[in-house]
Amino acid sequence: MIKYAGFLFVSLFLMMSCKSTEEFTGFSYDPPNVTNTTDKEITIQPKRIIGAGDPKVWISNEFEGARVNDFYAVNDSLFEVFIEPENAPINNSPWYAFKIWSDTVRMAEIRMNYMDARHRYVPKLLSWVEPDSSWQQQMELPVEYDSAAATATFEILLAPDPVIISAQPLHTSSLLTNELKQRDVLEKSFTEIRKAGRSKLGRTIWELEITETSPEQKAPVLAIVGRQHPPEVTGYLASLYFLEELASDSELAARFRQTFVIKAFPLLNPDGADMGHWRHNAGGIDLNRDWENFNQPETRAVRDALLPLKENESRELFYGIDFHSTNENIFYPIDEEVKTAPDNITQKWTEMVQASNPDVTFSIEEFDTSSPIAKNWFYHKFGIDAVTYEVDDGIDRETLEKVSRSAARSLMELLLQEWQKTAVEN
Ligand SMILES: [Zn+2]
Repeated sequence: MIKYAGFLFVSLFLMMSCKSTEEFTGFSYDPPNVTNTTDKEITIQPKRIIGAGDPKVWISNEFEGARVNDFYAVNDSLFEVFIEPENAPINNSPWYAFKIWSDTVRMAEIRMNYMDARHRYVPKLLSWVEPDSSWQQQMELPVEYDSAAATATFEILLAPDPVIISAQPLHTSSLLTNELKQRDVLEKSFTEIRKAGRSKLGRTIWELEITETSPEQKAPVLAIVGRQHPPEVTGYLASLYFLEELASDSELAARFRQTFVIKAFPLLNPDGADMGHWRHNAGGIDLNRDWENFNQPETRAVRDALLPLKENESRELFYGIDFHSTNENIFYPIDEEVKTAPDNITQKWTEMVQASNPDVTFSIEEFDTSSPIAKNWFYHKFGIDAVTYEVDDGIDRETLEKVSRSAARSLMELLLQEWQKTAVEN
C-alpha cells in the first residue's frame, strides 16, 4: 500500500467522515476511482536498446521485469533515464529495471526522472552470477535526491559487460517455481503445485497446497496470497520464507501440516511483475481493490480456488495473509471490535512477532472491513480473521529472513493452539 500525496487530505477527510456502511471510495494514498476495476488502458513500453553519448553508453529493457521508457545524454558525464507508469493516475511506486553498459570502461552519472512521480526505491546493482545463472544483487547505489525536480542521481562504473540497475532485486514470474525448488518447498511428498488460473495475458497463477492431512480429516486452512503489486518484492520474499518454514522438516512444521492445509498463491500479478509495472495488472487495475467485483482474472482465480471450501465439510478456512511492501514494517489487522471466528488472531500474532524481534520496529494499524481488498474478502466470505502483512521496502535481507521465519513459526504455534480451542469448544 503506497502513499499518494496528491489525494491525501481529501481522502483522509472522506475516510474520517465515512461510516463502514457507506461505500468505500479509496484509501488516503489511492488515486480517484480506484474501486472501479473494469479494464483501463495501459501503455506498453517499447522494448529496445538505446545508445547515447560518444563513446556510447547503452541501455536496454529487453528482459522480463524491465522498465525504462527513454534515455538521453545530458552532457559528457551525465545521462538521464525516463521512467513512466503503465497508466495514470497511480500510486507513487516508480519501478525501474534496465541493463546498462558502455563501449569503454568509464564512470557515468545517471539521473532518474519519473515524470509525475517521486524517486522511491534505492537503486540495486545486479550482475550475472554464473553458477546460479541469474541476476543477483551486488550492492545498493547511494543517490543524491533533488527534491525540487523529484529526480535522483547516482554514479556507476560502466564497462562493455552489462549490469542491471533495478528498483528491487528481480523476481519475475518465470523464476517462481525454481525459487520454490531452491527453498525445498516443491519436491516434497506433501506439496502439490497446480494452475489456479491464468492472468490477463495468459501467464499461470500458481497455487501451492501443502498438507499432510487426509482428505476426510476435518482440517483448517491457512490461505496465503501475495505480490498483487509488482514492486513489492520484500513482501514477496517474506512469503517465500513463510512457505519454506511451512514445508520444513522441523517438528513444529510437521505437526502443523498434519493438522492444517496451506493454500498459497504467492504471485498474483505475474503480468505486472514481468512487464515492470508500478502497481497494476495488464488490465490497468489495482488488483487489491477488486475483491468485491472480481473483474480481473487474477483475483477470480483465487476466489474460484477457495470458494469451494465453503461446501467442503472436511475443510474450514481459518486464517488469511496477504503479503505486501511499503515504507515500513506494518500489519493491518481487522479492527479488534469486528467479531471474527477465530477472533483477534492477528492481534495475538503481532505481539509474538514483536516479542521475537525486539530490535525491529513494527507498526499496527487496524481498519474496518469496508474496502474491497483481499483481507476483507476473507472476512466477508468466510467470517475469518485475516491480515495485510507489509514489509519495509528498505529492509536488509538478513532481517527480512529472520523476521519472516520467526513470524511463520509463531503463526504455526498460535494457529495450532487456536484450532485446538475450537475443537474443544465443539
Ligand atoms: Zn501492496
